[in-house]
Amino acid sequence: MSHNAYITAEPIEGSDDGPLAGLTVAVKDNISTEGVPTTCGSAMLAEYVPPYDATVVRRLKEAGATIPGKTNMDEFGMGTTTETSAFGPVENPAAEGHVPGGSSGGSAAAVAAGEADLALGSDTGGSVRCPAAFCGVVGIKPTYGLVSRYGLVAYANSLEQIGPLAPTVEEAAELLEVIAGPDDRDATTRDARAETGDDDAYDYAGAADGDVDGMEVGVPTELLEGADEGVTEQFWAAIDDLESRGASYHEVDLPSLSHAVEAYYVIAMSEASSNLARFDGVRYGLPASETDEGYEGDWNDTFARVREEGFGEEVKRRVLLGTYALSAGYQDKYYKKAQDARAWVKRDFDEALSEADVLASPTMPVPPFERGESLDDPLKMYLADANTTPVNLANLPAISVPAGETDEGLPVGLQLVGPAFGEKTVIRAGSALA
Ligand code: GLN
Repeated sequence: MSHNAYITAEPIEGSDDGPLAGLTVAVKDNISTEGVPTTCGSAMLAEYVPPYDATVVRRLKEAGATIPGKTNMDEFGMGTTTETSAFGPVENPAAEGHVPGGSSGGSAAAVAAGEADLALGSDTGGSVRCPAAFCGVVGIKPTYGLVSRYGLVAYANSLEQIGPLAPTVEEAAELLEVIAGPDDRDATTRDARAETGDDDAYDYAGAADGDVDGMEVGVPTELLEGADEGVTEQFWAAIDDLESRGASYHEVDLPSLSHAVEAYYVIAMSEASSNLARFDGVRYGLPASETDEGYEGDWNDTFARVREEGFGEEVKRRVLLGTYALSAGYQDKYYKKAQDARAWVKRDFDEALSEADVLASPTMPVPPFERGESLDDPLKMYLADANTTPVNLANLPAISVPAGETDEGLPVGLQLVGPAFGEKTVIRAGSALA
């Protein structure tokens, strides 16, 4: 396959009928598939074959979908460009020579290139929305608790959700319908019907009717600061488009958002340092017998060698920083502060959403990077997540829809954020544009 979108292209057939019969749904390689390798884009798990299906995979099969393969991704979901995969970078089918975004870059590229009808990604801090924006497709990050994480290999479990990628909002909504809903195997899942009091809470495709007449859109000024001119031009054009269909907008200040990306990275790295402790070559990961020196030395040496050889540079950086942020003496200074910022972000969003149906911003403040551009400069890569990460901190739903191209022909995405379990509202708003 031409864009390196897949790590494993081994088809998994679903049942004969169901709402997704006849459709292919590519699945990100951090979502467990029984009998089919699930590598998380890491040499650590190159040989790992899960003995069970993730709940979302079981639901895809029951819905009649065929899974054409497992898609390439930044290692363990850590990245914004899909260049940190141990299986090589993914090409952006919509912008040659540029990254597809990340970390679900393989899923977005597969959809953009027509190598799958639909795809699943996971979004910890933007990993569905960013590649959707960079590849010119639609991506939804569901409310925390709408979709089961059972069988999703954890990166930062308090932040992440599995979400759909598709060419149109309606198709993304159809896929969301299949994967959403409570699961006994994930105690953080909630029933959208009970949460919203709406008996048709799961009728997401029905909400894709493009009707934004009377809708109030809030535009957080903080999320436009520092954005590229080519991006803001397309953003305002999309807002004009919504206005011409009967929506109105107002600007709103959410001061906490200027600190969200820092808080996100402290929390995400802290959780990662804990979640990735299981990759030691004993419980999970590269067996010590396959490292360069085999079982040489004591337990600590062996453990260290497995992690030295199995993890890539970005993963190591995050495990180290996360361990530091959680260590005695520093916890209050970093981790606790980040949790305070998280609570502040939640409050700011709640307030803004009490006066708006949705909040709109560019999904990414920049157009797709050129390949290799951000690899030497991790901070630059982290800052590109300024608009997506606050939404994960607040556990809210958001959609990214294509909003034109820059003068250089690079895709731009519009992000719409809704209240908790307000998927239908963001889908309705997004469907007016894509
Ligand atoms: N780019 C962000 C990070 O590297 C988001 C990743 C994600 O959502 N998995 O953490």
